[in-house]
Amino acid sequence: MNLILMGLPGAGKGTQAEKICDKYNIPHISTGDMFRLSIKEGTALGMQAKSFMDQGALVPDEVTIGIVKERLSKDDCKNGFLLDGFPRTIAQAEALDQLLEELNESIHHVIDIEVPVEKLVERLTGRRVCPTCGTTYHVIFNPPEKDGVCDKDETPLIQRDDDTEETVKNRLKVNIEQTKPLLDFYDKKGCLVNIKGDQPIETVFDDIQAIIEK
Ligand code: ADP
Ligand code: ADP
Repeated sequence: MNLILMGLPGAGKGTQAEKICDKYNIPHISTGDMFRLSIKEGTALGMQAKSFMDQGALVPDEVTIGIVKERLSKDDCKNGFLLDGFPRTIAQAEALDQLLEELNESIHHVIDIEVPVEKLVERLTGRRVCPTCGTTYHVIFNPPEKDGVCDKDETPLIQRDDDTEETVKNRLKVNIEQTKPLLDFYDKKGCLVNIKGDQPIETVFDDIQAIIEK
């Protein structure tokens, strides 16, 4: 099963990706996570990505396409994969098409999680993540069992540098402008499905499973 998760920042892609990948045993490929890891490790790629990410801007296409290409050619993608946060531009979508063609593969579903914009600022500024295992929480909507620490490994939770109100607003603006042509691109191909994201996390997941298993 080759899947793409779409949706504005805060729509719940990371949250749903974890559930989908656990259940269907496919790797979760998040370009945002890959960039954050590179920054943490201090690689050249990380240095390049950081200046864009700090401003809430997109990392240039050639850099982003390069890391996805490398990742999709790994063995663990042979039974399928879930892309989260990629593609974000038409150039990325076209590069992905070309790459999949070379691999004799295609995308089965593009799942768009829709949430009204006014709810997203609240979701993003309240988001907390575990720097060890990447699990995502929300201070109100999805709190950890013990205040401020990860349920899985007890690491103190952190707030992402780009989850401040000002950066969030810019990210949403950039994303809204860039997402529309992509949704049209996949709609024309007939693989786009819309999911109502403004529902409890488990209900959203039920709707996604129904699509995958249809
Ligand atoms: P994305 O990966 O799309 O940016 P996340 O999965 O990180 O989004 O979710 C953003 C924030 O919203 C997180 O704090 C998460 O816990 C919370 N969240 C995710 N799904 C829901 C939902 N269905 N209802 C309420 N809050 C949610
Ligand atoms: P969110 O979904 O919450 O915006 P991500 O973790 O997907 O967060 O992305 C964080 C940042 O990483 C983006 O603001 C952007 O700078 C960079 N990034 C992630 N994916 C891409 C992509 N496909 N193309 C360009 N930049 C990207």
